Amino acid sequence: MKEGLELLNLLQKHDDHIIEIEITIQEIPVTIKNLEADRDSEKHIIEQVKVQREENVKKREQLEKNILLIKEKIQKYREQMNKSTTNKEYQGFITEIKYEEDRISSIEEDIIQRMLEFDEIMDEIRKRESEFNDIAVEYNNKIKELNSHLDYNKSKVSQETENKAELRNKIPVNLLKIYDNLFLKKAGKAISVVETMFCGICNVKIRPQLLNEIISTDNLFICENCGRILFKQIEDQKKTGS
Ligand SMILES: [Zn+2]
Repeated sequence: MKEGLELLNLLQKHDDHIIEIEITIQEIPVTIKNLEADRDSEKHIIEQVKVQREENVKKREQLEKNILLIKEKIQKYREQMNKSTTNKEYQGFITEIKYEEDRISSIEEDIIQRMLEFDEIMDEIRKRESEFNDIAVEYNNKIKELNSHLDYNKSKVSQETENKAELRNKIPVNLLKIYDNLFLKKAGKAISVVETMFCGICNVKIRPQLLNEIISTDNLFICENCGRILFKQIEDQKKTGS
């Protein structure tokens, strides 16, 4: 029984390790997703500035169109002015044309202002893009590292699963049955290592009589509280049971 128990304890260690690796395998893609989201939110800031740039271009196009419309209007005034019969009428057109020409001047000033603003936006985009490129390199390196870590763990888990299968072949079927049953019922912890007078998992004190039996024999014992297989790893000086 001693050898069987030792193999079961080894099997528990294999299972613990596999579970640990599987948790890592599940966690890595989540971490990668978060990193990608962080990286892309940095990019989002650039997109916002690009929207400003588009608005600036659209607005300037609109202003240019307005100037053309006003110029057409002035042209019509001029044609009508040439046909005017009275001085009063003529002066009226002069005033209108002057008013429209002033409007053009003020729109042109607006356009110049927006061109300056456009240059500032372009500077901002270039600055943010270069900042983003630096940040993205860092993020991408981290993501690359995590991906290779993920590959490593995937191959590790398949290797460990093979090792476990080999180990299981060496364990008597009746012991495996007990182990597998407990493994399912006890959240993957079938074996409890006893180092002192307490169950290593549920921490309940083992009755002195039972403890003495555990120490003096190589039989299979179950924790009276949690029901797990007790595996003794008690040093000689602790064998008094007190
Ligand atoms: Zn216990």
